[in-house]
Amino acid sequence: MSSRQNAVSGLVIDHDLSDANTLALPSRAERFWHARVERDVIDGLELANAQGWPITVVGGGSNLLLPPAVGGLTLRADIEGTTFRAGDGGAVHVEVGAGVGWHALVDACVEREVWGLENLALIPGLAGAAPIQNIGAYGVELADVIDWVELADRRDSRVHRLERDACGLGYRDSIFKQELADRVVITRLGLTLSTRPRPQLDYGVLRDRVATTPSAREVFEAVCAIRREKLPDPALTPNAGSFFKNPLVTEATASRLLRQAPDMPHYPQPNGQVKLAAGWLIDQCGLKGRRKGAFGVHDRQALVLVHFGGGTLDGLIAFADELVDIVHARFGVVLEREPRRVDASRG
Ligand SMILES: Cc1cc2nc3c(=O)[nH]c(=O)nc-3n(C[C@H](O)[C@H](O)[C@H](O)COP(=O)(O)OP(=O)(O)OC[C@H]3O[C@@H](n4cnc5c(N)ncnc54)[C@H](O)[C@@H]3O)c2cc1C
Repeated sequence: MSSRQNAVSGLVIDHDLSDANTLALPSRAERFWHARVERDVIDGLELANAQGWPITVVGGGSNLLLPPAVGGLTLRADIEGTTFRAGDGGAVHVEVGAGVGWHALVDACVEREVWGLENLALIPGLAGAAPIQNIGAYGVELADVIDWVELADRRDSRVHRLERDACGLGYRDSIFKQELADRVVITRLGLTLSTRPRPQLDYGVLRDRVATTPSAREVFEAVCAIRREKLPDPALTPNAGSFFKNPLVTEATASRLLRQAPDMPHYPQPNGQVKLAAGWLIDQCGLKGRRKGAFGVHDRQALVLVHFGGGTLDGLIAFADELVDIVHARFGVVLEREPRRVDASRG
């Protein structure tokens, strides 16, 4: 990593981000700001405002597609600290800084036999990024446990608290991906968990792996084991987890596809839409294990694209677009990308 410390405190010029994104895409930030407390975040935002720089917020880089050069100011909020406070009826109120590692937080809760996050074990990244796409796995999503999000807003350089209902949390979506994108930096989260056992074992594969009345630790270990079997470790095989969202289609589209493929996994949603499994669609097109140059479809999990080294963002996007076209031609369903692509022209 090479970078130069600028005269302005906290500002690093020409910062290497290649090992700060789990796809290991080569990338450099023109300017990088590492914030350790709320005040640092505000200072970074004020500096960007004064200079007219766009802002790119990064966390652990596990859901980011980075171009070779990121202009403007790249900012990471590494705010530490987790507190647990007992509430009524077994409730446990947890406050966590944006810079706390997500998996470490889940582990700390499980260690206290506090329920609510165990199904979300082993998701890479920092707590501050969790609301951005309302992280979810094995039938649980952040929206089930979050109370509020604190964020610093570029518009007024102040920290605000947004209650859960104002966060627009949906399937891999939130207000932070939409109206507030590149305007706010999440600094802290508030969650309500519970000491009362509430195992969520609706994913059959999980139920089969634990006792009838499991401890939070047992569920956590089962989730970790299943994930390790299915997903490549980004430290060994660079990837960004699921590259595509599971598509939501109309009931009519789902019925049409089910006539074509009666065994197609499909999950009716409360709003009448039907969720399909993007990995299954890709797999059906015979694309599992396909490789082209520096990129490929993982051979055990068709939803994950892997980087074998030497590639760049453009190559990855071209490879992903080909997959989208093939799936569209076969099923008439358009796959949408899950990781966020940072715009190369910023700054
Ligand atoms: C192997 C693997 C498995 C995965 N499994 C899952 C899974 O099961 N479920 C799931 O939902 N996701 C999964 N992911 C995706 C990813 O781990 C999550 O989206 C995670 O929350 C991203 O955290 P991060 O800190 O790495 O964020 P980054 O990738 O650095 O950033 C992601 C987005 O959040 C924004 N952001 C980050 N921090 C902040 C902040 N403090 N304030 C404002 N904006 C911010 C960024 O601008 C960007 O838009 C997986 C990824 C990998 C590599």
